[in-house]
Amino acid sequence: SARLLDVSKHYGRPGSSEVVALSHVALDVERGEFTAVMGPSGSGKSTLMHCLAGLDRPTSGRVVIAERDITDLGDTELTILRRRDIGFIFQAFNLIPTLTAAENIELPFRLDGRRPDGEERAWITHLTQVLGLSDRLGHRPNELSGGQQQRVAIARALATRPQLVIADEPTGNLDSRTATEVQHLLRAAATDFGQTIVMVTHDPIAASIADRIVFLADGRIVRQERGLDPAAVSRIMIDDLVPQQPT
Ligand code: ATP
Ligand code: MG
Repeated sequence: SARLLDVSKHYGRPGSSEVVALSHVALDVERGEFTAVMGPSGSGKSTLMHCLAGLDRPTSGRVVIAERDITDLGDTELTILRRRDIGFIFQAFNLIPTLTAAENIELPFRLDGRRPDGEERAWITHLTQVLGLSDRLGHRPNELSGGQQQRVAIARALATRPQLVIADEPTGNLDSRTATEVQHLLRAAATDFGQTIVMVTHDPIAASIADRIVFLADGRIVRQERGLDPAAVSRIMIDDLVPQQPT
């Protein structure tokens, strides 16, 4: 499970240069629940994901991951918790440029001081096959297309079956067939393995696969819906979530 309790995040110095990226956000994601986050560009989605994953500290409010309040954890403890329990798919893939695709995918195990066992190795092989990476495993990120890099990042985030998976536009660079595979992987992670999934997406079809959609606008959760079809999602995005004009 993952919870944000009255979380606000301000960037910059108070006053003219201050940006309020999140304002009093309360979010409760149950274990095994798949939540999609949608909203206009700049509405605070990535900031929300970073706070939820302990990558960034809220200005105020609390963050609770798997019943543990992580708000006041030190950097070292936070890093250990992240490596063990959280898989993060970044909007900009954040692969290690000097490592091959295979090494990037196995990185979470290395950082945890171990190597994948037989069963984990079989899972990694399955992931790379489903994601169409089998013939690219020896390539470094600069030798891969954007979509291939994204798929490596997805495999890396799912490799250890972490209890919390945070995915920031994981299918943004993928063709629709590969995007569908990724959505099925995330859906199965929640349904079959009880992993908690929070995914940012601009794609109404991807969002409609989640159990619930949370809509952000101007740093606030303005709406939460279950069981929406893609057309209804599009209508909300186009008609209801008008970003605030700068004054
Ligand atoms: P997109 O759909 O374009 O990825 P987003 O919803 O993920 O947008 P965020 O990246 O969370 O939006 O940004 C929210 C607001 O916070 C924006 O106004 C952005 O300019 C600002 N912001 C984000 N990161 C920083 C930072 N490090 N310093 C200052 N302002 C920031
Ligand atoms: Mg973003």
